[in-house]
Amino acid sequence: MSSTIQDLARANVRALTPYQSARRLGGKGDVWLNANEYPLAVPFELSQQTLNRYPECQPKLVIERYTAYAGLTPEQVLVSRGADEGIELLMRAFCEPSRDAVLFCPPTYGMYSVSAETIGIEYRTVEVREDWQLNLPAIAEQLDGVKLVYVCSPNNPTGNLINPDDLRQLLEMTRGKALVVADEAYIEFCPQASLAGWLKDYPHLVILRTLSKAFALAGLRCGFTLASTEVIALLMKVIAPYPLSTPVADIADQALSEQGIALMRQHVAELVATREQLIADLRSLNCVEQVYESDTNYILARFTASSQVFKMLWDQGIILRDQNKQPGLAGCLRISIGTREECQRAVAALKSLPG
Ligand SMILES: *Cc1c(COP(=O)(O)O)cnc(C)c1O
Repeated sequence: MSSTIQDLARANVRALTPYQSARRLGGKGDVWLNANEYPLAVPFELSQQTLNRYPECQPKLVIERYTAYAGLTPEQVLVSRGADEGIELLMRAFCEPSRDAVLFCPPTYGMYSVSAETIGIEYRTVEVREDWQLNLPAIAEQLDGVKLVYVCSPNNPTGNLINPDDLRQLLEMTRGKALVVADEAYIEFCPQASLAGWLKDYPHLVILRTLSKAFALAGLRCGFTLASTEVIALLMKVIAPYPLSTPVADIADQALSEQGIALMRQHVAELVATREQLIADLRSLNCVEQVYESDTNYILARFTASSQVFKMLWDQGIILRDQNKQPGLAGCLRISIGTREECQRAVAALKSLPG
């Protein structure tokens, strides 16, 4: 008996909708405000000429520099192919497929569900409250069998921080039962809110970081997991032998040098100023119902006719991210903070819309 290729594939992979990345969605734009990237390329030169050799699994200098930046010890830091790989490594190390579950709180980042579905792990969702904060009683009711709770703070796409008191309560209710994974992909835009200082009190706290956003290196694919030495040791068992290529480690070294970090902080300050201007500009427009505060390099806004707005800007080469289908976000579009000129172009295009 013969089977089609489709039949041969795992059932959960047949059923899987892949992550709809901004890149996959395409568009023919010249103003890209849809992937929370830094708008300009930062130049780097390669200094390593040893591509005949396999790279280190955990390049020493990268770990040292990130450790110093995060205020931790090297045994508390893992480097991986983006924060996305960290999301998946945690599931592979801590969740038994078809038995354990992960939990997260929509509207939030899309990769938690995609990774769980790919590996065959149940995921449970507990929507955030109307103020976009955690619904702790509902989470408490859903924790049975949950090994990982992913909390994105500041949250993508809403842009808000999760209350630290609620995070403490979550850490208390999960102690001895599950890990709490704080996704801090945007923490450089609000560094005072990082939970890195809590790692010493909570061995079941895990923090995800990336060079893709504030560090302007989305194309590099480099992220970090910060956790207790026990958690890091377990992740080291399941990570690929050579997760980072030699050029990636080389560029990450430079990005994490003193000058690299100073440049990142300068970029963050510029983006924050641009963000506040964009919020003010959007609030003056008729087609905009509400613009939300943000602690990140993007803002979420609610439009009176978001689908039309999205399409009309798309047709003018200004590409935003549609969040209209996410729970509680009807009419919402997410706008990444580009250069001042790019934001002005988006505002000008919105101003000229009918209605
Ligand atoms: C962009 C993003 C990531 C992915 O980071 P990479 O390092 O590029 O894989 C993870 N979490 C959130 C919330 C993000 O927005």
